[in-house]
Amino acid sequence: ELQIKQVISWMEKTNEKIQSNKEYLTSLDQAIGDGDHGLNMARGFQEVVNKLSSSNYTYVSDVLKDVSMTLLSKVGGASGPLYGTAFLKMSTALKGIETVDYPQFKKAVVEAVNGVKERGKANKGEKTMIDVWEPIVDFLQKQDNLEAKELESTAEKAMEATQDLKATKGRAAYLKERSIGHLDPGSVSSYYIFAALSEVLE
Ligand code: ADP
Ligand code: MG
Ligand code: MG
Repeated sequence: ELQIKQVISWMEKTNEKIQSNKEYLTSLDQAIGDGDHGLNMARGFQEVVNKLSSSNYTYVSDVLKDVSMTLLSKVGGASGPLYGTAFLKMSTALKGIETVDYPQFKKAVVEAVNGVKERGKANKGEKTMIDVWEPIVDFLQKQDNLEAKELESTAEKAMEATQDLKATKGRAAYLKERSIGHLDPGSVSSYYIFAALSEVLE
């Protein structure tokens, strides 16, 4: 069961990880992008936490809606609309549900990945955040209960595997073969999102 206070805590923990790894995310994006991913994410998630702490919620879907709208308006770049879409799809999938159970949450994450793929016109293997989100969906589909530790390690392995991929979407695609050997910045920020989720679910 996923409650409002857990979703808020999920976003707070995500923000902590992003703030403390802001320079790292920037350096990853300097290597194969334009070097703004740390700044984009740090700005966006700080605004998310500010928004959530100054609001009252009845439904998990309303929290996720505010997360989405804040990311859409504050993050910018390619990642803003994509993360905004992910949280908007989760919100829509959980609309009107007061206590979210595991199957409902799983369904919401599936919707989120489908939304990101549609919006980014990308699939698994193109060295984008999808290379973390899709393995997470595959993992969730196999589980009857959410194993927090395994969720974290699944996300970590998926994030690390982006190093060997050649980028065919986003700015890194301009580098072609030269994108190989670097982690995808958006996969690292997505790893923080799922690592934070696993801490909340423990
Ligand atoms: P920008 O590239 O516009 O500067 P960011 O640096 O904030 O935006 O985000 C870059 C990240 O966005 C990439 O590392 C990648 O994970 C993700 N990304 C870029 N393009 C796409 C796409 N078409 N589909 C999915 N994810 C993408
Ligand atoms: Mg960038
Ligand atoms: Mg940019």
